[in-house]
Amino acid sequence: TKNLLIQSEKLSSAGQLAASVAHEIRNPLTSLKGFLQLMEAGMDNGDTYLKIMKEEIEKIEAISKELLFIAKPSPNEFKEENLMELAGEVCLLMNSQARMHDIRLSKKFDREEYMLNCDRSQIKQVLINLIKNAIEAMGESGTIEIHIHTKDQLLIEVLDEGPGVPEEMKERIGEPFFTTKQNGTGLGLMVTKQIIKNHGANLEIEDRDVGGSNFRILFET
Ligand code: ADP
Ligand code: MG
Repeated sequence: TKNLLIQSEKLSSAGQLAASVAHEIRNPLTSLKGFLQLMEAGMDNGDTYLKIMKEEIEKIEAISKELLFIAKPSPNEFKEENLMELAGEVCLLMNSQARMHDIRLSKKFDREEYMLNCDRSQIKQVLINLIKNAIEAMGESGTIEIHIHTKDQLLIEVLDEGPGVPEEMKERIGEPFFTTKQNGTGLGLMVTKQIIKNHGANLEIEDRDVGGSNFRILFET
């Protein structure tokens, strides 16, 4: 019975996800259809319509991209990976986006080398999602720090100087489609949490003394 219970829990959360996906995609689709009908009827406000339609399509594109990542059938590829190298690659990738907002990415390590048995592209995805959120939270200046350390256990932290996550929102974080952003998908942290769970690790969100938040990934060692 325990197994069955787990199974039905899985089914209902898959059902919930499917329902919310359908809902999220339906809004932009409805709007697309509406604009097409207006155009068909000869209401020619061409440029404005096209601009909104493009945004709606991009929303659907963003949702499907993140969902594909969750549904990706390819198995995890766990290998011993060099975390410093991996963090370096991610920073390289995110640097231009950060610089556009006058934000600096700073790395801090307490060792020369960290090896972790993990899926390289998934851990990169996690760091990308966290850094992207940090940039979006911070606005137009500041420093995002990426710390890796090994006090009692291996820890990766992404620290920002944004407004922080309000207490009452903390438990909703990672819920599919939970977003406070105009153009957010609310899927980034869901994917992030899933990946972290796949790695037997935990995600904690802490407020920083200096303001901002600290997203901490704690690995079992
Ligand atoms: P999205 O970025 O599309 O909104 P996410 O799942 O990545 O979706 O994030 C969900 C929500 O969590 C965000 O809309 C925001 O309210 C909050 N959040 C995430 N990261 C941060 C952060 N670094 N600082 C403050 N709030 C954050
Ligand atoms: Mg995000």
